[in-house]
Amino acid sequence: MLGLTPTNYSILDADDTDVLEFLMFKNVSGTGKTFVHAKNCEYLGDYKEHESCEQTNCGRFHAAESMRSGTISMLRKGLTTLGLVGDWDAEKATGNPVSSVAVNQYQLMIREEQARAGVTQKSAALLMRDDIIRLLQRMSAWLMDPSLTQDERYEMMRDMAYIAVVFATGKRCDDIANLLISQMVRFPDGSGIMFGFQFGKTLRDGSRQMFGVKKDDITPEVCAVRLTDDLDNFANKA
Ligand SMILES: [Zn+2]
Repeated sequence: MLGLTPTNYSILDADDTDVLEFLMFKNVSGTGKTFVHAKNCEYLGDYKEHESCEQTNCGRFHAAESMRSGTISMLRKGLTTLGLVGDWDAEKATGNPVSSVAVNQYQLMIREEQARAGVTQKSAALLMRDDIIRLLQRMSAWLMDPSLTQDERYEMMRDMAYIAVVFATGKRCDDIANLLISQMVRFPDGSGIMFGFQFGKTLRDGSRQMFGVKKDDITPEVCAVRLTDDLDNFANKA
């Protein structure tokens, strides 16, 4: 960014060097959760930090996959909405500086470095059907507690319906929290509910994801339709 002083510099002037510097800064800032051992560290392939790691320059970094799908892709999208579209052209200084050869190479380098150090991409812990059944059974039992206030009872039933709908549709809790009553429609024969998700963490461009959920008579404890109906009845009575 030669010749530009901080006062006349805007985000639209950023070039791919700025993006690279930002990514490198973020990677070494110590905010990452993935521990990567250096090639000459005796604990190479291990997940934990050891005392001798200080001498070998091992450190905590951002996992390559979260760097790619989180930081880099979000930054690219953000700059696109500001009008920086297309591949970065270094000579003309046009396009999206995140879509540049250098940024792409940096991302690949991090991925290779972590793969070489034996880092595996961790995914979120799985919550299996049996866990959900046990959780909702426990919550049903808590609901029997006569000392619960009206509000506590409502919150418990709401959370149970949330969990069941999240489990039935595979959606995020965040998506359910953004669901409007008008986006839920009962099947005419009462056998289920149609959910029309329109806003959430990964859903914000105005498109819609529809899920039809039918009654579960075999495991009624986790039936999203029954628990939503229960909440609805309770709210109508209250
Ligand atoms: Zn180490």
